[in-house]
Amino acid sequence: MAADGAAEVFRRRGHAVVVGASLAGLRAAETLREEGFTGTLTMIGDEPRDPYDRPPLSKQVLLGRVPADGTELPRRRALDARWRLGVAAAGLDLAGRRVRLADGEEVAFDRLLIATGARARPWFRESEAALDGVFVLRTADDAARLTRRLAAGPRRVLVVGAGFTGSEIASACRERGLEVTVAERGPAPLVGALGGVVGAVAARLQRDHGVDLRCGVTVTALEGDLAGRLRRAHLSDGAALDVDVAVIGLGAIRNTEWLTGSGLAAGPRGVACDAGCRAFDVHGIVTDDVFVAGDVARSPHPLFGYQFLSLEHWGNAVAQAEVAAHNMISSGLDRRPHLWLPAFWSAQFGVNVKSVGVPPLGDELVVTQGALAENRFVAAYGFQGRFIAAVAFDQGRWLDFYRGLIESAAPFPPAFTNLDRRTDGTRPVPADFPDPSLPTHGPTVTLSGYSPSERRLRFTPAPA
Ligand SMILES: Cc1cc2nc3c(=O)[nH]c(=O)nc-3n(C[C@H](O)[C@H](O)[C@H](O)COP(=O)(O)OP(=O)(O)OC[C@H]3O[C@@H](n4cnc5c(N)ncnc54)[C@H](O)[C@@H]3O)c2cc1C
Repeated sequence: MAADGAAEVFRRRGHAVVVGASLAGLRAAETLREEGFTGTLTMIGDEPRDPYDRPPLSKQVLLGRVPADGTELPRRRALDARWRLGVAAAGLDLAGRRVRLADGEEVAFDRLLIATGARARPWFRESEAALDGVFVLRTADDAARLTRRLAAGPRRVLVVGAGFTGSEIASACRERGLEVTVAERGPAPLVGALGGVVGAVAARLQRDHGVDLRCGVTVTALEGDLAGRLRRAHLSDGAALDVDVAVIGLGAIRNTEWLTGSGLAAGPRGVACDAGCRAFDVHGIVTDDVFVAGDVARSPHPLFGYQFLSLEHWGNAVAQAEVAAHNMISSGLDRRPHLWLPAFWSAQFGVNVKSVGVPPLGDELVVTQGALAENRFVAAYGFQGRFIAAVAFDQGRWLDFYRGLIESAAPFPPAFTNLDRRTDGTRPVPADFPDPSLPTHGPTVTLSGYSPSERRLRFTPAPA
């Protein structure tokens, strides 16, 4: 049957299975229906609740303004789906087109969407992670537990790791009037995501808001009392802190273990797929009936030298899910690429942080608006003479302008000036990212692969 015909048959009578019933899974399912998919739809999710939104968990929920079970995702339409919630997918038979569930059921599919996202990286020593008072924050249940404990008024909270989530948790604690220590291995908060120049602003913000910020240190051990309650944390510089709550903010792990042995290109960085969201197999050959979207996906982006981007961005999960769903029921030239420009927001210490593009790819930075010293600025990032990203602190309304510059690969440093540039020098300075070979939990964009401009590939002429 011609490929076009197969897509049409699938659209009318096929079985679409979505594994991962959260933001990307839900948006993909809605798009399938919106675009005329009338076949059978099965949603498989290991969490026992309806799809919900995660960004409020580290913001409004921790502050007690929204209950942890009150962030359900709004529905764009009825789905007419079979829901299998509270049961994990445990394996994939690619050739037989079946998903094996943890309860032994096998679910056959014609097209599969993998949207299993990521989970919080746990504290590395299991016995210490099990202490009463040690938390992570990824799920609504995590948020409910942590919010209850913060409301009980702990004497001191330790936040391990000052990436976005850790910084937002510290901010919520200070807003609640709690004493907080933040321990960060890098030289500043947010340094993996935004570099050292902007990281220094984040550090000042934290200290100005009363955070006991300790950079360049790691937490080496968590110590409990005889009743198994957290009492003390030990740092690599020899300090010991009396704490009764520790929140581990050491980044996320992609949920790909269930795909082990499936033959898909799945690993710790996610599931590799092409720009059309079709999964690659282990040989780098693209599959035609397995698609990937959201935090679990890694896909090449032409604007960034076709490097594979793994993103932990709400907007990416939505956009990629929509493209994946469209491509699941389309064929050939009707398929669309996922060319979303990475964008991210965060709210911490009264400041609205927004980013567009891929800051960690930037080698230089120039403050184009406002001033770092005022915590109100736009910093533009350049890579090899072109715009690659921009980060705004309380200046988010300008980011669309910078989005245009990034999309058109405009020359960097910028030739334009503007009235609001009061600023910290007009010459670019090094963006000051940590050595990429050092592990960091900080970035919300992970680049893998390599830039073609590095010319690592060598083509050897065949012998005559
Ligand atoms: C606390 C917090 C704050 C955030 N704040 C922001 C923000 O301010 N701005 C922003 O842009 N982004 C933010 N994010 C990131 C954003 O929430 C994610 O990018 C988004 O949730 C990704 O959606 P997803 O559907 O791809 O993955 P997820 O939301 O991780 O969903 C994946 C789902 O699949 C399930 N699953 C995993 N394995 C299996 C399996 N084997 N079988 C069945 N189901 C499985 C998971 O339990 C989960 O329900 C935040 C995230 C967190 C945790």
